[in-house]
Formats: sequence, C-alpha cells, structure tokens
Amino acid sequence: MATTRTTSPTEAAHHLRRGNLVAFPTETVYGLGADAFRPDAVRRIFEAKGRPADNPLIVHLRRQEQIGQVAARIPPVAQHLLDTFVPGPLTLILPKHDNLPSVVTADLETVGIRVPRLPLAQSFLEACDTPVPAPSANRSGRPSPTSWEAVEHDLGGRIDCILQGGRTDAGVESTVVDCTTDPATVLRPGAVSVESLRRTLGEVQVASSDADAAPRSPGTRHRHYAPSAQVQLVEDPSEAASGDRHAYVGLDAPAHTDALGAVYIEEDVRTYAHDLFHIFRVCDENEVEVIYAQTVSPTGLGRALNDRLRRAAAR
Ligand code: AMP
Ligand code: MG
Repeated sequence: MATTRTTSPTEAAHHLRRGNLVAFPTETVYGLGADAFRPDAVRRIFEAKGRPADNPLIVHLRRQEQIGQVAARIPPVAQHLLDTFVPGPLTLILPKHDNLPSVVTADLETVGIRVPRLPLAQSFLEACDTPVPAPSANRSGRPSPTSWEAVEHDLGGRIDCILQGGRTDAGVESTVVDCTTDPATVLRPGAVSVESLRRTLGEVQVASSDADAAPRSPGTRHRHYAPSAQVQLVEDPSEAASGDRHAYVGLDAPAHTDALGAVYIEEDVRTYAHDLFHIFRVCDENEVEVIYAQTVSPTGLGRALNDRLRRAAAR
C-alpha cells in the first residue's frame, strides 16, 4: 500500500472518511486514526500496529459537544475536568454509548475520550466530522512517534495517509483519568500532572503502575515505549558504564562524556520528556546497545517521565 503524505487536514480527512487509516499529529504524540463508526477500519488500526486486541483506543473529538455520540453520560467529576483541562492532553474514561462499535473499546463498558489542543489536529478532526479512535501511531511496543518521520519509519506502507505536522510538543502521552470511580482514578500518568488534577478535584487516586498488579487500564499491562537498545535506569550518571555503543540521557552530566558513544543532557524535565522518544529512535538508528537513562524526581511531569522510563526498561 502506498502511504500518502500531506500537509492538508482536509485531504487527510477525505482518506479517513473513505474508511482508510490516517496518522495525524497532536500536542502529545502522533495518533493513528479511523472512523469510529466503521468497525472494519478500526480493526485495521490493530492490524497495522500489531496492537493486542484487548487494548482499547482513545476516541479523539473536535469538541466537547461530540461526547454524547460515544459516551452514555458525563459524570460530575468529568464535567469539572472538561471545564478545566479540555482541550488538552487529558483522556477521560466515561460510560460507553451503546451505539459505539465495541472494537473501539476492546469490549469494555467504558470509553476513553480526548479533545486535542493542537490546531492542526483540531482542523483535521473538524474535517473528519466523526469521532476518531486513535492510539499512538507506532508499531506496538515501540517508542511513541513524536515526528511524522517516526510514523513513516514504523507504519509506512501499512497505512493510507500521514498528515505531516511538526515535532510534537509534550512528547509524552495524555494523562488517562477514570471518571467512573469515586474519587476519580489516574490510570496512566501523562502530560497533565496529578498535582494539577488534585488542585481541581481535591481527592484523586492513582492506580498502581506495578506491572504485576491487575491493571484497570489494559494498555498499561503491555511492554511499551521501548527502543531496540537495552534501557538501564540510573539515579546517578556515574552508574553509566563506558562504551562506544553506550548512550546516556539525563538531567545531570556524567564526568567522562567522551567515554560514551552519545550523551544527551536535558535542561529540565519538560525537555527531557519532549526529547525522550526521539532520542530512543536516534539511538536505534546508530545501533546503540545500552541506553543509560537517569530517573527524575517523581513530581509533576516527572511522574509520567519515570513511568515511561520504567516501561522502556522492562524486559
Ligand atoms: P495509546 O493510545 O496507545 O497511548 O494507549 C491508550 C491508553 O488508554 C492505553 O493505556 C489504554 O489501555 C487506555 N484506555 C483507552 N480506553 C480505555 C478504557 N475504556 N478504559 C481504560 N483504559 C483505557
Ligand atoms: Mg501507545
């Protein structure tokens, strides 16, 4: 299959409306979308990515008014979050509408919805004029794509169209909040911090990110975000062993940078999160064998960054 590239959101939306798969940028990472009401097209998302069928998709909407097409109701906590954080990198888990094809939610009785903030994503969703389920546009297990080139690398020839935008802003995925529990539960830490959710809602639970605990968010069960290189977590840069095919990424610089094949020093947690998946992919292109990645203080965006680092390091 030839993969069309375009910078036109209208052209990309034409592909989607014909039942095709379209990758598009958002403020978090690139997504791979289909028309929510064409179950065959949605099934092809799972095939193209090699995504386990038990991992539900987040439905992307242009505006809040479309929620009624995919969700049965909006609990009060969800409305509060919508008023505060939406559009933005926050996914709300709501009771599913009966009309939404079950392939979208992997047979769950709930649905994840998100309204992206990126103008190009909004133009695309506006032109689609239908809810768009979209997981990250990478082969399952690989680092999420933060550029259209990364999408093409993973899915070129397997999808119909790539809407070309710039590098994505956040670089980590949306925060997933289950609004069907009381209090609400963070199922996946992400670009919206738990602290800011607590400022808005008061009490918020955080689901265990322990891979052995029975996770309520099916996707967090699978190995994720991993480059081909082995990822080793370090607290201190001195833990990085010398080697030509060794790389280091972190906030603090190692003493002997010339003893490593590549060294990436990040200015702060924001740029670290923004750059991480890109660095993973560059390391793979350069056949790096081990990436030493420094963990950060687990507050704010640091919680999401550590989560991605831990999952990338899991074997
Ligand atoms: P991805 O789009 O690849 O970043 O993954 C979407 C994430 O949202 C995964 O961790 C999914 O398991 C989670 N998710 C989507 N829909 C639901 C749902 N209805 N209930 C719980 N988690 C969900
Ligand atoms: Mg993903």
